[in-house]
Amino acid sequence: MSLNSNQPTATESYKRKFMKRGKPEEQNSLVFYPFYPLKPTTIYTMNCFTNIIGIDTLIEQAEKTMTFSIYTIRNNQTKQTTSIAIEFLRIEETSTISVIFDLLHRPLQTSPIFFIIHCLLLHIFKPEKRCFIWNDDQQQDLYALVSHQYLSRFILESMNIIQLQQPFKHWYNKTIPHNKDCFVPTTSTNDFNYCICQYCRYKCINDAWSLPRALHYTFNEFIYTTDEEFVNIPLDIQYSVICCMTLTKLFVAIQLNWTQEQLDQCKRMHEHCLRWG
Ligand SMILES: [Zn+2]
Repeated sequence: MSLNSNQPTATESYKRKFMKRGKPEEQNSLVFYPFYPLKPTTIYTMNCFTNIIGIDTLIEQAEKTMTFSIYTIRNNQTKQTTSIAIEFLRIEETSTISVIFDLLHRPLQTSPIFFIIHCLLLHIFKPEKRCFIWNDDQQQDLYALVSHQYLSRFILESMNIIQLQQPFKHWYNKTIPHNKDCFVPTTSTNDFNYCICQYCRYKCINDAWSLPRALHYTFNEFIYTTDEEFVNIPLDIQYSVICCMTLTKLFVAIQLNWTQEQLDQCKRMHEHCLRWG
């Protein structure tokens, strides 16, 4: 199904089996695997082609959900935010929901679908809820929702938006200590330019982790998109959904304060799943 078709809420399941088509990659004798989500997700796209039938169920889900992961895509030339992906972290459920707000194909402000998308966003952006986002650039991209009249500035600025980039760096440095032969003491949680560890965390105290690199070094995984003819999901949507799920996975590791042993267990389980299905 094309995402531009007028099917009810353009739904696609992004299941783990799609990820398994990716092949492991080797770099400096370390093996990297395609991204493996904690839970499968179902994707909905919101734009001028979306059929309003069935969105009430999505609004109910948004109302019940208290935690979200958000990833934005920006056009490098125009610097405009082109889409915002929001994953609903449904703790009790076996799957999540991912909604893509397509800002390039917006409905007219007088249309019913514009009003419905506005309602959906109002149920996500409430001050009692939590939204995880990677860094400040991503957070600034959310102002596109204000400029396109989907949300008021007041509502956006009342939100509890938590940037994960710095907490991740702190947790990573604490969890993966420096090697014994490194010049930096194993107990240090800062980055130093004389660190010689091969798994190479950043070397400067002000270096900032990118999201793909955080996934790479924490879980030995890389962001993998698949042939869109096979899954019927455009590559940019696959990418933003995987970035949301990556944020979710890193958030869980940080919040549960996973140890290196727990990370290794997680990696072994992923490897097992890839081999045996
Ligand atoms: Zn080191």
